[in-house]
Amino acid sequence: MKRTMKAVLKAKPSPGFEIKEIPIPQVGYGDLLVKVRRAAICGTDSHIWSWDEWSQKRIKPPITIGHEFCGDVVEVGPGVTGFSVGDFVSAESHIPCGTCYQCRNDQQHICGNLKILGVDTDGCYAEYVRLPAVCAWKNPKDMDVNVAAVQEPLGNSVYCVSEGDVVGKSVAVFGCGPAGMFATAVSKASSAYPVISVIKHEFRRKIMKELGADYIINKNEDVKKLVMDVTQGVGVDVVLEMTGSQEAIDVGLSVVRKGGRFVAFGIPSGAVKMALAEGVIFKGVNITGINGRLMYKTWFTMQGLLRSGRLNPKPVITHTYPMEKINEAMEKMKSPDRSVGKIVLLPFGS
Ligand SMILES: [Zn+2]
Ligand SMILES: [Zn+2]
Repeated sequence: MKRTMKAVLKAKPSPGFEIKEIPIPQVGYGDLLVKVRRAAICGTDSHIWSWDEWSQKRIKPPITIGHEFCGDVVEVGPGVTGFSVGDFVSAESHIPCGTCYQCRNDQQHICGNLKILGVDTDGCYAEYVRLPAVCAWKNPKDMDVNVAAVQEPLGNSVYCVSEGDVVGKSVAVFGCGPAGMFATAVSKASSAYPVISVIKHEFRRKIMKELGADYIINKNEDVKKLVMDVTQGVGVDVVLEMTGSQEAIDVGLSVVRKGGRFVAFGIPSGAVKMALAEGVIFKGVNITGINGRLMYKTWFTMQGLLRSGRLNPKPVITHTYPMEKINEAMEKMKSPDRSVGKIVLLPFGS
């Protein structure tokens, strides 16, 4: 096997990505080496690309970027059981330490020493990636590669919806980025009714429709009145807040019903204000914060939803770019009208 590979790096502390020839990662104890078949772009990668305040604090260049992907196992490190060469895998991006308080309480996804692939360790925008076997998820061999590549972000939404207990319940999804789109699809697949999608970018209305949203409201309309009309003045059982914006949090708390649940997933850029008395305490609202995916309860639920045919995330994937054109793909992510859903990257040299 050759010794070097192409990779997308945050090579220095400044905006943009660079493609470089670097050594193929060495597998250590408990690791797999995976040849990347498809990768996907996440909002996190976009932050790192722009080199915003968060990434300046968190990212230590040089580092290979990317944490959403699928690929084939080409080498199995010492100490690994349950995986072999040729397995088709996707990756859980949260790398747990295995020994801290959370890890030993079935909460590896929020490990006290959590590392994230492509953020704290070298990631998957490369020909090969080193993946701790604890983070590998085996896919059926014939699984659609694009769907396999987006299971990590899809899993976030599966976790959000699972926490909401949505069967036969009304759900309002705030946000029309990939997380909001996936949450809409998963809510429908989980037999919620009605599923109300609150969008910002009109380009995404068509996709929301395809994903089965029962009502689609633009955030500039009177969201509260429309949600109340649809729910006979009660409010929704579950709010899935996938944006992190102050406005969506305010409106979300105003439309969740008394005794309902508010699932917080979108990450605000700073501290937010919350109507704690009127919006939460007096209404007896339950707020749940979601980070990552339960390892691996969420993945099994996602697998079941996908295999059942009820969950089809494909309409969310709107564009593919070769890995070589990563900077172009990142520009596309930023297009002002957001005329893009999830972008999937084809491997180098394809
Ligand atoms: Zn991500
Ligand atoms: Zn831990």
